[in-house]
Amino acid sequence: MQVIIELENYLLALLPRLGINKQRELVRLMYEISKRDHKTPVEILPPQQNLNFEQAKKILLQKRYPVNFKTARKDQFYLPKLELNPELEADLTERPFSPKDIYIETSVKDSPLADRIHSAFPKAVFHETDGKTQVGSPNFSRRLDTLLIHREKYDFLKPCPCSCGSTGCGYNLVNLGFGCRFECEYCFLQQYQNLHAVLLPANVDEFLAKIDEGAFRMGPFDRPRIGSGEFTDSLVFDDLTQYSASIVPFFRERPNLQFEFKTKSVNIDGLLRVGGYENIVVSWSVNAAPITNLAEHSTPKLAQRLQAACEVARAGYRLGFHFDPVVIYEGYQQDYARTVQEMSDMLPHDKIAWISVGTLRFSRELKKQIETRFPKNTILNGEFLLDFDGKMRYSDTQRLEAYRFLVPLLRKTFPKAVVYLCMEDPAVTKLF
Ligand code: SF4
Repeated sequence: MQVIIELENYLLALLPRLGINKQRELVRLMYEISKRDHKTPVEILPPQQNLNFEQAKKILLQKRYPVNFKTARKDQFYLPKLELNPELEADLTERPFSPKDIYIETSVKDSPLADRIHSAFPKAVFHETDGKTQVGSPNFSRRLDTLLIHREKYDFLKPCPCSCGSTGCGYNLVNLGFGCRFECEYCFLQQYQNLHAVLLPANVDEFLAKIDEGAFRMGPFDRPRIGSGEFTDSLVFDDLTQYSASIVPFFRERPNLQFEFKTKSVNIDGLLRVGGYENIVVSWSVNAAPITNLAEHSTPKLAQRLQAACEVARAGYRLGFHFDPVVIYEGYQQDYARTVQEMSDMLPHDKIAWISVGTLRFSRELKKQIETRFPKNTILNGEFLLDFDGKMRYSDTQRLEAYRFLVPLLRKTFPKAVVYLCMEDPAVTKLF
């Protein structure tokens, strides 16, 4: 990759005896600074007499981490080898979901879902499978080419794994589907999903049967919460799956439980058809406009999401919102305040059940994926440090500043909603 070669050559001219590992660290720092500040190598690290590796690294760390350089531990700076590969960049062409190859497991080939898929994609190549054949592409960006309709046998329900050492909120997950057609730059699926295809189970009735056998955690809520949006967006494929037509009536009869559809989509026709109930919450991820516009590719904009929220509220559902991930950048507070104001202006306040807040965090592996798939990203420009659970986060000081701004604003604007932090250090959570 040209940018890496240019940085290596510049550093070799400056520090001719630099070992390979030291060179990698400096290349990474130079790359991250030049991407964020739009500066050339000579502007970032001008030639100077008797410069050695330690001095060069210190200069670059100070420039890369101006807020946290003095307070962060040295082992919190994560400087892996920079690896960019244009062939693995995300394909951001706008197009409808139209899989080329569709695999249907023999055991569900006569299911209503299989019938709907046949009608929806007449031009696709259909394959019957015993479920043992590996399907999908090695390239995550090609995942939408393949759809697998299967019968889930094991992975029905589980407590939300949260993040190791974080404060849990007692959430419970049903894994109704895997894969998403949106392209959020921070999405953990791009690092987590090893089968690069969309998977949709045809046996939603078996998922629901397991719920009646389940013992659920409550967390800080009045009733257990169960949701389906961990490995997919809960509604993005609902026009095909029609899961909502089974889920909503099931939970309507179980008012001691709450079900949450978590989405960025406006695919709400199924919900409107079946009609809502107070224990069924439809929640939207919301963000500052620059993050929605630049980092949540192919998703509906904030106004469209809020419009959809108003419609489902009128149909009897309650609403949830997730300020997640909050991204810290210059002027972020004004942008997030604007989003809160838009929500306040448009939404029926008394219908909002909960609002979560969580700052951007990611694993080390995900950082490299984001960098490779979205080389023009701005979300990684912030100062991320290795944290208590091995994830990368903003420093405690920066996160606290974000929460001290946003949490009271949300509580003041929406006094009836439960506002809570998601996947945070208990020491931070207890302050709110
Ligand atoms: S909507 Fe959710 S699941 Fe889909 S790409 Fe964005 S973060 Fe990932």
